[in-house]
Amino acid sequence: MQNDTSYSNSPSGDGGYNYIITGSGCAGLSLLMRLLQEPQLCHKKILLLDQSPKNKNDRTWCFWEKEKGLFEPIVHHHWHSLNFKSQQFSSTLAIAPYTYKMIRGIDFYQYVMQYAAQFSNVEFRYENVRSIRSENNTAIAITDQHTYTADFIFNSILFEKPTLVKGKHLLQQHFKGWVIETKEQIFDPAIATFMDFTIDQKNGTEFMYVLPLSSTEALVEYTLFTEQLLEQEEYSSALKEYISAHLKISDYSIVHEEFGIIPMTNHRFVKHEGNIVNIGIAGGAAKGSSGYAFQFIQKRTKSIVQSLLQYDHPFTKTSFAEKKFHFYDSVLLNVLANKKLNADKIFSDIFSKCNPETILQFLDNETDLLQDLQIIKSLPTSVFLSAALEEMLS
Ligand SMILES: Cc1cc2nc3c(=O)[nH]c(=O)nc-3n(C[C@H](O)[C@H](O)[C@H](O)COP(=O)(O)OP(=O)(O)OC[C@H]3O[C@@H](n4cnc5c(N)ncnc54)[C@H](O)[C@@H]3O)c2cc1C
Repeated sequence: MQNDTSYSNSPSGDGGYNYIITGSGCAGLSLLMRLLQEPQLCHKKILLLDQSPKNKNDRTWCFWEKEKGLFEPIVHHHWHSLNFKSQQFSSTLAIAPYTYKMIRGIDFYQYVMQYAAQFSNVEFRYENVRSIRSENNTAIAITDQHTYTADFIFNSILFEKPTLVKGKHLLQQHFKGWVIETKEQIFDPAIATFMDFTIDQKNGTEFMYVLPLSSTEALVEYTLFTEQLLEQEEYSSALKEYISAHLKISDYSIVHEEFGIIPMTNHRFVKHEGNIVNIGIAGGAAKGSSGYAFQFIQKRTKSIVQSLLQYDHPFTKTSFAEKKFHFYDSVLLNVLANKKLNADKIFSDIFSKCNPETILQFLDNETDLLQDLQIIKSLPTSVFLSAALEEMLS
């Protein structure tokens, strides 16, 4: 701790905040929004700490859901049909009762911050958080400037990136996306391309993702599941090549770019320790086998708020379903990381043999054992059985 570190307590100075949220990104702001929806919790003294204000459109979230969600007012675009393409199988799939939805990062940040602005008990501070700890039933956050205390810290800062350890798998999902505008009307804004595996699989698993926003605008994203990242220029040349050779577009401008890396791992993230509760990617919200996190963040923050309301504490138990899907994710990661099969073969089998509703429900960790069997039956038995045995014994 540096000498200039001073203690800062609640705005009223009566001994600390009720809650500190470290990291005001997707998970931190989702939790804040849910706390502020509850009459029993919305008056709590809450401090959000982030290294910098969230004022950039730094990411786009896509997810699927059946009902209208908490963030429905800021859904930027939605689709009722998804394209799947590979050398083995290609089809346009109606996904009812689900809708595939897109939320832009900047709209999300502004929406939550504007909503929170009406609560004088919510404070945002922009400071680098060096560490957090739990001591004598108090949660403590240490930043470059201050030390803050609270009853609970909800932490979404990944202080230590998961590393590859024996018996675990770690792949990176890495992607570069461009929002492009064309002069000609080329896209069908009603259909999103969920996965296009018809590109060269030279680096391992790689596919394109195309989300048309109008007939002349689309997000085109190049995604890989591999151990090593590429040079920035390699992502750009793959995008250029796809836009020209597959989408047959020669005249376009790039109006937005995003880049992301999401760990795909069966590493067990600590959910809570003392009075610290981990949320977001830091709490294991990114699904090990797909990298999708937005809806898992929503489920987790919802269950934390429910626990606070019901039991006056935020600790949630790991359910049987969570353990079951963690095992399935480990098996799929085993197959991918050990290059037993490529993902284009696996997803082609699933998409060609199962109905889209069951697939999306499965990817959301919400299927029952009978539905799981439909997915499992669509896959090559010997490869997956031996991977499952290895995972059981590891
Ligand atoms: C470009 C991109 C696109 C994605 N698209 C999708 C998608 O379509 N669908 C989906 O389901 N998931 C997607 N994800 C994955 C996941 O939903 C996002 O990463 C999501 O933002 C994770 O939320 P989080 O709160 O865990 O992390 P973040 O949103 O990254 O929030 C963490 C916060 O902590 C702050 N912070 C970090 N270190 C410190 C520190 N030392 N001190 C203070 N503050 C700190 C950061 O500034 C940040 O604001 C995407 C990820 C990226 C990067």
